[in-house]
Amino acid sequence: MLNKLIANMLPYMPKKLIWVFSKRYIAGETIEEGLLASKLLNEKGIEVTVDVLGEFITTLDEAEANMHEYFELIERFTNEGVKGNFSIKPTMFGLLIDKDVCFNYIHEIVALAASKNSFVRIDMEDSQCVDMEVEIFKKLRSEFPKNVGLVLQAYMRRTISDLEDMKELNTAASPINFRLCKGIYVEPESVAFKGYEEVRANFLAGLKYMFENKMYAAIATHDKYLVDESLKMIGEMNIPKNMYEFQMLYGVTPELRQSIVDDGHLVRVYVPYGIKWFRYSTRRLKENPKMAQHIIKALFIRG
Ligand SMILES: Cc1cc2nc3c(=O)[nH]c(=O)nc-3n(C[C@H](O)[C@H](O)[C@H](O)COP(=O)(O)OP(=O)(O)OC[C@H]3O[C@@H](n4cnc5c(N)ncnc54)[C@H](O)[C@@H]3O)c2cc1C
Repeated sequence: MLNKLIANMLPYMPKKLIWVFSKRYIAGETIEEGLLASKLLNEKGIEVTVDVLGEFITTLDEAEANMHEYFELIERFTNEGVKGNFSIKPTMFGLLIDKDVCFNYIHEIVALAASKNSFVRIDMEDSQCVDMEVEIFKKLRSEFPKNVGLVLQAYMRRTISDLEDMKELNTAASPINFRLCKGIYVEPESVAFKGYEEVRANFLAGLKYMFENKMYAAIATHDKYLVDESLKMIGEMNIPKNMYEFQMLYGVTPELRQSIVDDGHLVRVYVPYGIKWFRYSTRRLKENPKMAQHIIKALFIRG
């Protein structure tokens, strides 16, 4: 209860204090820091997917600036040989302001990545965005079948039917590439499963569907039960290594992550960086309110 209260106060706390706890989850503010964190992960045999923080925009000028930031990111990371790809949030490119402009900006980003033989993952945002993000993905996939992927959220009731709907896009030459995660936004029961076990069950049902239909699965979870069940499914269904990977967020469950790497599976870490780290951090800290205890301790220490 107290933890939750403190978590809700986070946005009003001094930025410097929040940073003490956020640095675990964020590579830094600059592209150099994003590069450094990614190279250090590469040295441990881990690949990355890099995200520029900045989902909260109100003008198309900001959307255009975000596109240019991704251009720089893609140029720098591919030129410097970082093993990894890129994640984007469509709202950062104006999805909720003008969806055609947003599509054009994302198209430019994916075209640049494709020219470098790289890959862009479209993150899935809250339920008002899902139809539009599926549509953007479908259009881009027809032009860049090897260079673009989407996220599906296991808490959404529609996820299996989205998979069925997109099955026709799948080909052996370019398997459709989905990241499967639980889903992070607060959604009404009418669209999302609310029970912990229900979400887990839908996650495994979605994963099974992807494997049965020869789609590429990026298994994004820190839930040990789901990691173990996924590994069991991979073994039982004899899924080849080029058809799946595991994904985790920067700074979360590094021991579990390392155990998967040590077992010989590909792991990719989602590396966020950027000056807009504050909103991202307060959301991460709210997900894990126990950390708020440390914040209040630090408040006292700072007097
Ligand atoms: C690579 C990646 C990309 C993602 N992309 C999206 C996306 O596009 N759209 C979307 O809606 N969601 C996305 N998510 C978030 C996801 O939907 C979940 O909210 C998040 O991963 C927590 O779910 P979980 O499966 O780890 O299970 P949980 O049951 O939430 O966590 C399992 C265990 O992991 C540990 N853990 C989890 N989170 C934290 C934390 N912040 N700090 C410390 N320990 C933690 C705890 O030990 C916890 O008990 C992404 C997640 C990952 C890993």
